[in-house]
Amino acid sequence: MDVRGGALLRNLQRIREAVGPDAALIPMVKADAYGLGMPQAVRALRPARPWGWGVATVEEGSLLREMEPERPILVVAPVAPDSVPAGVAARLSFGVSDVSFLSRVVREAERQDRDVAVHLEVDTGMGRAGFDWRTVREWGPRVAELMRGRVRCEGAFTHFHSADLEDAESVKVQAERFRDAVSALPKGAGAAMLHLCNSAAALRMPELAQGGVRPGIFLYGGRPGEGLPEPEEVLAVRARITLVRQVPPGTTVGYGATYRAGGWERWATVAIGYGDGIRRALSNRGEALVAGRRVPIVGRISMDMTVVEITDVPGIEPGDTVTFLGSDGGETITLEEMARHLGTNNYEVLTGFTPRLPRVWREADQRPDTSQDHTEPHGD
Ligand SMILES: *Cc1c(COP(=O)(O)O)cnc(C)c1O
Repeated sequence: MDVRGGALLRNLQRIREAVGPDAALIPMVKADAYGLGMPQAVRALRPARPWGWGVATVEEGSLLREMEPERPILVVAPVAPDSVPAGVAARLSFGVSDVSFLSRVVREAERQDRDVAVHLEVDTGMGRAGFDWRTVREWGPRVAELMRGRVRCEGAFTHFHSADLEDAESVKVQAERFRDAVSALPKGAGAAMLHLCNSAAALRMPELAQGGVRPGIFLYGGRPGEGLPEPEEVLAVRARITLVRQVPPGTTVGYGATYRAGGWERWATVAIGYGDGIRRALSNRGEALVAGRRVPIVGRISMDMTVVEITDVPGIEPGDTVTFLGSDGGETITLEEMARHLGTNNYEVLTGFTPRLPRVWREADQRPDTSQDHTEPHGD
């Protein structure tokens, strides 16, 4: 996998332009930066001067803390109570969804004699985490009660369930529920920073992003939703041809012999398979790019090999490159095209590549389809 760090940074800068200079940027680097590699993503995004980083687990946060001694690291997802000590020790900020978890954090902060910041999550319809917006008069005072001593409320947030859809009505409703809940909080629980928006919401309704934003998918080159700006392409997944053969009519290929050559065909065996994250469901269905041309994947994808039919592409030899995601010449296979074949979304495609597939971060910001090496470094 080739990853262009400069494109990642420019995508974050586009979010910055959309939301204005005052909103706090909290790039989401959970799940190893959506599968691309957290340390490299953090290095690539630093020049945009984010306020902090978003992760999903204490393990991710602790790993990130080793390379990021100062900036806040927010664990947005609820974590198991027994993860609290490690989170406090790594000076992570916890997203908080219930009073008993918050008391656990308070006790641990006192035990370790450390200051801890928390962000109150308000559930306004997502239903998986957060204090219920309807019962703020019950939990608000109990939260305020606990915000003494070592624990401080640094922010409050909510998460939209349908910001990717063109119809923004549900986003408005959730935003109102959030405002209502926040304004009903007692003084003691008053949250400094309010952050509501993922990538799609930040681009669709930047007026909601005044406090802060938590962009993810857009940074990594995924289209965030209907009718929204497209990000710059960030990654390409390529592999080498290891074998080229001319096969007579009737030749079968792959487990189950699910494909049979209709006439004389040329097939190329490529050194990549579902063991790398090229999903088996793309068998006889997905396409790849060879010398700038689209070719079909034929037969079942194996763990380590995939066969493409290259009858119409002359001059292909072992060692040549096949592109499964990204651009080659004028053609592009997007995350969204692959997601469509698989019946899933671009997020699952991104996070589905396995550790065997090397992540090669290109510091020099070179487009894969140009031969000119323009070596302008990124950074501040
Ligand atoms: C993953 C996540 C985000 C980022 O969403 P994108 O759609 O990838 O921009 C923001 N907030 C929370 C709470 C998340 O879990």
